[in-house]
Amino acid sequence: MYLKSLELSGFKSFAKKASLEFKTPITAIVGPNGSGKSNIAESFRFVLGEQSIKSMRGKRTEDLIWNGSKTSPRSNRAHVKLTFDNTARGNVSESGRLFAIDFDEVVLERVIHRDATSEYRLNDSVVRLKDTIELLSGAHIGASGHHIISQGEADRILSVNTRERKAMIEDALGLKIYHYKKDESERKLEKTQENLDKVESIRRELKPHLAFLHKQVAKVEKARELALDLKQAYRDYFAREKAYLDATLKRITYELDPLEKRMLELQKDITHAREELQKLSQKDVTSDALLSSEEKMRSIREKKDLAVREVGRIEGEISALRTLLAKEERKQTEEAHKTVPFTSVSSMTTSLGRLIDSALSQGDPAEFKAALSAIKTLVSEFMNTVRGETARDNDIAEVRENISSLEHDKKKREGEIATLDAEEKKYAEEYKKIQHTIESDIHSGREMERRIFTLSNEQQEVRMHIQVLTSEKSTLKLEEEEYKRELLEAGALVGVEAVRFDDLSRALAESGVVEERSEQHERKRQIERTKVRLEDAGSGGGDDIMKEFEEVSQRDAFLEKEVADLEQSAESLHALITDLEETLAREFAEGVKKINVQFSEFFSLMFNGGNASLEIVREVRKIKRDTDIEDIEDDDGTEDGAEGEEKVFEGVEIHVALPRKKIHGLEMLSGGERALTSIALIFAMSQVNPPPFIILDETDAALDEANSKRYGDMIENLSKKTQLILITHNRETMSRAGVLYGITMGADAISQLLSVSFDEAVHVAK
Ligand code: ATP
Repeated sequence: MYLKSLELSGFKSFAKKASLEFKTPITAIVGPNGSGKSNIAESFRFVLGEQSIKSMRGKRTEDLIWNGSKTSPRSNRAHVKLTFDNTARGNVSESGRLFAIDFDEVVLERVIHRDATSEYRLNDSVVRLKDTIELLSGAHIGASGHHIISQGEADRILSVNTRERKAMIEDALGLKIYHYKKDESERKLEKTQENLDKVESIRRELKPHLAFLHKQVAKVEKARELALDLKQAYRDYFAREKAYLDATLKRITYELDPLEKRMLELQKDITHAREELQKLSQKDVTSDALLSSEEKMRSIREKKDLAVREVGRIEGEISALRTLLAKEERKQTEEAHKTVPFTSVSSMTTSLGRLIDSALSQGDPAEFKAALSAIKTLVSEFMNTVRGETARDNDIAEVRENISSLEHDKKKREGEIATLDAEEKKYAEEYKKIQHTIESDIHSGREMERRIFTLSNEQQEVRMHIQVLTSEKSTLKLEEEEYKRELLEAGALVGVEAVRFDDLSRALAESGVVEERSEQHERKRQIERTKVRLEDAGSGGGDDIMKEFEEVSQRDAFLEKEVADLEQSAESLHALITDLEETLAREFAEGVKKINVQFSEFFSLMFNGGNASLEIVREVRKIKRDTDIEDIEDDDGTEDGAEGEEKVFEGVEIHVALPRKKIHGLEMLSGGERALTSIALIFAMSQVNPPPFIILDETDAALDEANSKRYGDMIENLSKKTQLILITHNRETMSRAGVLYGITMGADAISQLLSVSFDEAVHVAK
């Protein structure tokens, strides 16, 4: 026994808390009409999660809540609590428990409020309706269906169409779980398909953009490759360029330094030489000395000439006087000659003239005087001679005296001449010396000029050399500026790595290879070419593109995987659905077979013979597109439009053969016969897959006494497998129950519950 108790409060006519305990296999609920018996059956549906208010005879949720009476105010909530024993072992579920949860007792609760909010609880925890339904379906019970047969409902299994009947039988066979799973799988499949469509559509939308990005990325990659090449080329180029610049500067400096030093030296030397030359040219003073020296010599020579002439004159006088003396002396001896020969006169005038000349040329007054005195003497001597001497002795002495005086003069003059000679000799030497100096100066000047010429020549040469080097230097400077500009450009174009080449410089320095400048120029050209190509490929950045491509392709890959996953899950859902359908069909067929065995047994028991069976039927119907299968309620709803789609429906047909009667169609059965048939079928269904409990609300209403007895027997039989709750007015049925609950309704319109004895029950039921 699985059912333990039911507790109601505020549910429909049960304003106050009422509880029922189900301690026996069969519990009967009895009471007069309208006392609230059916409300009990509905409280079961309610607590098991029934969503259809209609099936609980209400229009709105509120209709399920105690609505109040003259004496009792209405409730705000309806609460039903159903307790199961979950410890029992049996064939209900594989685990031996009723519910697949690890509790010995399972308490289900449902509360509704007037604002239509609903709350489900499982062992005091709030749960979702879905959880309740799943739990219950595992235990082969549910809110509606085969195990709760409401008043007048027994007949339903006969009156519904074949398709609905099939559903009811499936439910009874416990196959609803497959339907539930199938529906869920189909929903999932639909959702999966929707997602698949969505994802594929996104992928389609993404595709051109991805293709575009792909192209862009190829471009960016190409550009990056070129940039890398360029970077490398730049490093190589710069390292070599720097080496070239350094080496060239070093060489120029090395060559230029001594030249500049030499140039300074030369300049100094030339200046010095020029100064020397200048000095030489200023030595004209020497030639002046030469001239003065010459002048001096000339003057001495003149003096000497004069002295010589004086000596000559004196000698002449002396000679004349000596002649006179000799004549006087002869006169003395010969006595007289009075004629004066012309020669004497001529001689005397010649001498006189000479004396006068000498006197005239004399500057010195003393000498002038002496000359004059000599003239007087000459003249007086001549006169003495001419007159004929008288006092010859005196004259001779005088002549002799004159001669001596003249000889004295002569000596004096000769002394003067000697002095002048010495002077002349001195000046002549001095002159010679000056002359020599001049000659040597001239020679030095020439030497100096020659030197200046040589130095200037060298200077010219050195200057030219320096000019060449200076021009080389300024060319180098331009090259260096260009190199610096290129460094900046390279850094800006391909990043700072392009200008980091110390390692290459080192390697280059170590290798010591010297190359042609043209090779470097070729490198430069190659760099320019790469730059152009890089520009074409779109230099600069690309990070955004790369990032976007990365993101988009990741997204695409993700979507691709998503598609694969979705396809995979769609496939497995398809497989699952097929599997479920197969299982369902197989188990259904097997179940129907088993039901048929029981059905014919119950049927022949009820009718004392006869035969009844179920048959699975297939019918092909044409349905309009967009018509939901659920919309086709019965045969009248058939859509037979020509454009309809054909669909196969399965259903279950009931065949009956009453004993002794030629009745085969259900329509031809009497009310009682219908009731018996449906009870036989319901019992047969319950036998095959017994639910933990069955509620039968006045299923026995239409039975006569004999049939009531048979019904009672069947119930007893059924109660061995399933707990039964019977709402009945039937005395026979009551007699089979272990516990009887009587329900009464007083003036307050509240249903009241009490345990009653059989006799009381019989009484209450009336
Ligand atoms: P019968 O033997 O004739 O089938 P019953 O014992 O099954 O009768 P129910 O149909 O269970 O009786 O009870 C119906 C009674 O419950 C009615 O009197 C109805 O007024 C009362 N009832 C139903 N809903 C409410 C409600 N929300 N509040 C108060 N009373 C209600």
